[in-house]
Amino acid sequence: MSQKLELLMPAGNLEKLKYALAYGADAVYAGVPMFSLRARENQFTWETLAEGVEYCHARGKKIYFTANIYAHNMKIKPFMAAFEKMQALKPDAYIMSDPGLIYLVRKNFPEAEIHLSVQANNTNWAQAEFWKSMGITRIILSRELSLKEVKEIHEMCPDIEIEFFVHGAICMAYSGRCLLSNYFSHRDPNQGTCSHSCRWEYKVFKKDASEEELYDSTGRPEDYIPLQGEFYLEERERQGEMLPIDEDEYGTYIMNSRDICLLSYVQELADAGVVSFKVEGRSKTVNYLAWVGRAYRPALDAVEKWETYNDEVLAEEVFAISNRGYTPGFLVGNPGEKAIYFEKNLDLHEEDPVGIVKWYDEVRKMARIEVKNRIDVGDALVLLSPSQRVNFSLEQIIADPILLANPKSEEASLTHAPENGESRESGHGGHIDLWVNVPEKPADYAIVRKKRTL
Ligand code: SF4
Repeated sequence: MSQKLELLMPAGNLEKLKYALAYGADAVYAGVPMFSLRARENQFTWETLAEGVEYCHARGKKIYFTANIYAHNMKIKPFMAAFEKMQALKPDAYIMSDPGLIYLVRKNFPEAEIHLSVQANNTNWAQAEFWKSMGITRIILSRELSLKEVKEIHEMCPDIEIEFFVHGAICMAYSGRCLLSNYFSHRDPNQGTCSHSCRWEYKVFKKDASEEELYDSTGRPEDYIPLQGEFYLEERERQGEMLPIDEDEYGTYIMNSRDICLLSYVQELADAGVVSFKVEGRSKTVNYLAWVGRAYRPALDAVEKWETYNDEVLAEEVFAISNRGYTPGFLVGNPGEKAIYFEKNLDLHEEDPVGIVKWYDEVRKMARIEVKNRIDVGDALVLLSPSQRVNFSLEQIIADPILLANPKSEEASLTHAPENGESRESGHGGHIDLWVNVPEKPADYAIVRKKRTL
């Protein structure tokens, strides 16, 4: 007997949707123009969304539309008008949080399946029962719950499906329910336009300090003048309760959370009743999807078959991504200051994404790649796909002279590395695709990474 677990990955646009499925997602969630959180990063149009639904369904995968804003009065009518358009596309479910909008959708479109967004902060079984009575079929539980609480909710309310965030960035407030971003940049998290103000780098200045006492914490370690003395915050009514302000050479992070990573807890979560394992990050890159998919897919496959998995080996994939340090969040107890981002963990990851493979020339054994970051002849690279991980050395970079003369030219061959190509010592992102040697035929959706020299 096996249990069916869903790996649910983010799709910020059609390309990311395809990579998410290729790297192991059983389902994706995608934003609807105007009405999802992360509205600014959602690159779907109605046309590409329709294409995305078709693409998923043709492969037996699911797609959920994220429509989880908390609407002000003026947005109710346009939302309901847009909902009719969404229904025509036939997604598998909607992710919603606003009780008023849920009520209206249930009334006007009773056949629509609704999953309760994490934004609604379901923290107990009574809420789960309430939402079930409202016709909700799945709840994305609050990220601030412990494993014990997740299990209790499932036991008390077994007929409702449980989805849980297992990987990605988290808020320092109850998921998205804060106004920091609204205050700093007039972008309201509850309307889908959060600017992540909690993760910005802040500097601390001493009032009336001399020039030498000022220090710059904007990522220039060589110029860093260590903070003199210790600094604390104290709330007026809580005298004596000191909140330390820590700073390193990269900045001061008062409200900044680490990323969540529950790779080691897949079995426990499945035992507690979680059926859908959700990854955060619609604004992240296809490389992120590849890394995370390659870690969580095998873990879920093993647990589905009641087998064990080596979380330490799989964790190498997620530690290769730039990250803010990982935490299990509240799953195994209040993390306290262990959940706060402090070190510049971005420097600790081991591989940088440098290109996306677009084509393979069988004859010349070269791949055309969309270059994302600088590459140099001699670099130690990794060819990575859902089924490959091959180390190789970059020996040849070739640019097509037709594209060099006119990057938009349609005369250049997209399938054959040019015989008269210009050999290069290096390549840069954002210009033209380049041909590079690869050790074997890249599988579909392959990417190229560069090993970091630390
Ligand atoms: S500013 Fe930070 S805590 Fe507030 S909603 Fe945005 S990500 Fe969450």
